[in-house]
Amino acid sequence: MPCDLHVHTTASDGTESPQEVVEKAKRLGLSALAITDHDTVKGIAPALEAGCRFGIAVLPGVELAAEEGEREVHILGYLFDPHHPALARELARFEKARLERVEKMVKKLRAMGVPLELERVLELAGGGTVGRPHVARALVELGAVGSVAEAFARYLDRHRPAYVPRLKFAPEEAVLLIRRAGGVAVLAHPGLSQCRDIIPRLVSAGLRGLEVYHPEHPPDLVDYYREFCRRYGLVATGGSDYHGTDHRKYNRLGETTAPDEVVEKLIELAGSAN
Ligand code: AMP
Ligand code: FE
Ligand code: FE
Ligand code: ZN
Repeated sequence: MPCDLHVHTTASDGTESPQEVVEKAKRLGLSALAITDHDTVKGIAPALEAGCRFGIAVLPGVELAAEEGEREVHILGYLFDPHHPALARELARFEKARLERVEKMVKKLRAMGVPLELERVLELAGGGTVGRPHVARALVELGAVGSVAEAFARYLDRHRPAYVPRLKFAPEEAVLLIRRAGGVAVLAHPGLSQCRDIIPRLVSAGLRGLEVYHPEHPPDLVDYYREFCRRYGLVATGGSDYHGTDHRKYNRLGETTAPDEVVEKLIELAGSAN
C-alpha cells in the first residue's frame, strides 16, 4: 500500500479537518500519510490522535514557503519535533506576518471599491494559517469574482493589484530550520517551482530529498527527478498535495503517492545525525 506524503488540512488552506483526511486516507487503504500544512504544525496533534484511532501511520510534516528572487520555493519537513523552540518561534513570526499581509490585501481591495471584511477572511481561515486562498474564497462569497481562480487572476497573483509580498525567507533557512528541529528537509514539487538550479545549494545546506511524485509532474519529469535522486543519493518522496475535494487541482487524496520504503528511509534519515 502506498503513502501520501503531501496533505493540507483546515490548519492551513485545506478544506477538511486533520481527522477527516486521516479517516479518508484509511478508507482509501493508504499505509501512511504526512500532514504538511503551509507554515504551521497545528494540524499534527489532531492528525496523530486520529491516526491512532483509525489505525494508520501519520507523519508530522510541514510545508514552509520560501522565496528565491521572484520564485516561490516550498520546502517540506518531515519527522521533526513539532514543539522545537526555534521552529515554534519562526512559525509564530510567520503567523503574525501572514495576518499583517492579509490585512494589507484587504485594505488594497477596499481602496479599489471591493467591500471585503477582514473578519470574514479570518473566519474562513478558521484559526489556521491565513493566506490568499482565504481572501479568494471571501471574494467569491461576496460575488466580486466568479471563482477562486478569477480572484487570483484579477487581484491576488504576483503583479496583480491586491498582491502583497510575503515575509522574506530563504530556502536555505527553511532547510536549516527543519534540520534544527530534528527533521528531514525535502524540496516540494521542483517542477512547479522551476528551481533546478538551486538544488545543489540546498543539498549543501542539508536537503535530503526531492518530491518526485506530484500531480503537476508529468511522467518525463518524474523520470528526470527520480534519476537525479538516484545520482545524488536523495530520497524520492511524493504526494497528492490534497487541499480538499473542491480544490481546482489538488483534490484527489492518495492519487499521487510514494512507495512505502520512502517512509522507512525518512525515519532512518531523521534518526541519523542529520
Ligand atoms: P499564500 O501562501 O497566501 O501566498 O497563498 C498561496 C496558496 O494559494 C498556494 O499554496 C495555493 O494553494 C494557492 N494558489 C496560488 N495560486 C493560485 C491560483 N492561481 N488559483 C488558486 N489557488 C492558488
Ligand atoms: Fe495551498
Ligand atoms: Fe507547495
Ligand atoms: Zn502543498
